[in-house]
Amino acid sequence: MPRSPDSPSLLRTLLLTLLTLGVLAPAPGEAQVWPEPDWTAVEEETLRHFQALLRLDTSNPPGNETLAAEYLREVLEAEGIPSRILALEPERGNLVARVGGNGSREPLLLMGHTDVVTVIPERWEFPPFDAVRHDGYIYGRGALDDKDNVVASLMMLLLLHRMEVPLDRDIIFLAEAGEEGTTRVGIDFMVQEHWGEIASEFCLAEGGGVVLRGGEPVLATIGTLEKIPRTVELIARGPSGHGSVPLPGNAIARLARAVAAMAEWDPEPRLNETTQEYFRRMAEMSAPEEAERFRAVSSGDPNALQEALAWFRENAPAYASQLQTSVSPTILEGGDRMNVIPSEARAVLDIRALPDEDPDQLLDLIRSVVDDPGVEVRFAPRDGMQRPAGGTSIDTDAFRAIEEAVTRHYGTVSLPTMSTGATDMAQVRSMGVDCYGIGPAVDAEDQGLGYGAHGDQERILEAELHRFVRFYWDVVLEIAGSRAGTR
Ligand SMILES: [Zn+2]
Repeated sequence: MPRSPDSPSLLRTLLLTLLTLGVLAPAPGEAQVWPEPDWTAVEEETLRHFQALLRLDTSNPPGNETLAAEYLREVLEAEGIPSRILALEPERGNLVARVGGNGSREPLLLMGHTDVVTVIPERWEFPPFDAVRHDGYIYGRGALDDKDNVVASLMMLLLLHRMEVPLDRDIIFLAEAGEEGTTRVGIDFMVQEHWGEIASEFCLAEGGGVVLRGGEPVLATIGTLEKIPRTVELIARGPSGHGSVPLPGNAIARLARAVAAMAEWDPEPRLNETTQEYFRRMAEMSAPEEAERFRAVSSGDPNALQEALAWFRENAPAYASQLQTSVSPTILEGGDRMNVIPSEARAVLDIRALPDEDPDQLLDLIRSVVDDPGVEVRFAPRDGMQRPAGGTSIDTDAFRAIEEAVTRHYGTVSLPTMSTGATDMAQVRSMGVDCYGIGPAVDAEDQGLGYGAHGDQERILEAELHRFVRFYWDVVLEIAGSRAGTR
């Protein structure tokens, strides 16, 4: 049930006063009452900052994230919250700010990236950097990816500081550059050069959200794990010559066989804590036939798992990709004249490895599948962005706090989710931080219609932005609020 945004009742105010004075501490297991901001005023303020951020063109490339970092710094400064802009390149600043707690527990990191993917302006009904409000939506590049998380994190800092909420943990806000393909100026730079600024126990970032059907929340995903993207090259070599004389060992033919073998490869399926729980909960909430398949996955019976996987590979590839390392051939290169047999041909494979996959063993496995000494198998020299492995436990107070807030604000079930894509949480997780991906509620149909993240008409429901901020407030306080009532 969403909490109503009215002012707190007299009883609530009394309770809060007693709690703040430390007269009344909740018994263990009892729900804590956290202070409530004036939500009407918060909505107006959220909208103002959100529109201002959307109107800054931080398309990556080139990025220009310093525009957003400077805006955030000004807003924080006006509130009396110090912040720093840390930049590997001047135009690509990351902003860090902190609201202090009593230090009895490790910090909580709130992360959002300020860069957005590029746009094709002609495809936008409303200009992509105007933040137009229309029919309950706000349109703009970054509306869902990821200026929603940026503004929600900003609002947390402003409110915590303004209301002097007692905290056990420092709350750190990181507005990062370069998430969309250039992590070296963003999260890599922050983790490698400025870890001390953002070291924390828990982290909240993009990578989850609530699904709406017919306007009603039907499930919430909480990102707890990611597959590891790897780029693998296959290079076939053979004799060159005149096309009129077929030669054994033709590089093009060799490559074609290798690519076909990789496309058909069906690696061993494996579950982890997140996917086990994901499929178990999916079984609970699905119609009988589907539920049976999901149950088979989490049953522990390898044959049942194989059978379900085979069905998913044909009919629901997104589920299959959660169960095994996946391979998609994406680039083929070789030959440039009709009558010349080239001595070399190359293919690129987009591999999304299960988080526990060992890179060297993975290459060996691929070599055994290709099974041709004339085809070299290697990681691409520029193996994309290296997102390291690293998992997040779902058996934490932070995860339970998110689940509870999902129930309270959206009245729906939470699913811990392993993303087949990748976010900046990977780098933070690799430092031993438990990171949870959360996000606002979005119409299930929107992505397919081009209204989703990276779509040509990216938009967010205005009411859902505000609900997300209220949800975020409860999550942050539940994880970091001081139960002793001291700051
Ligand atoms: Zn993003």
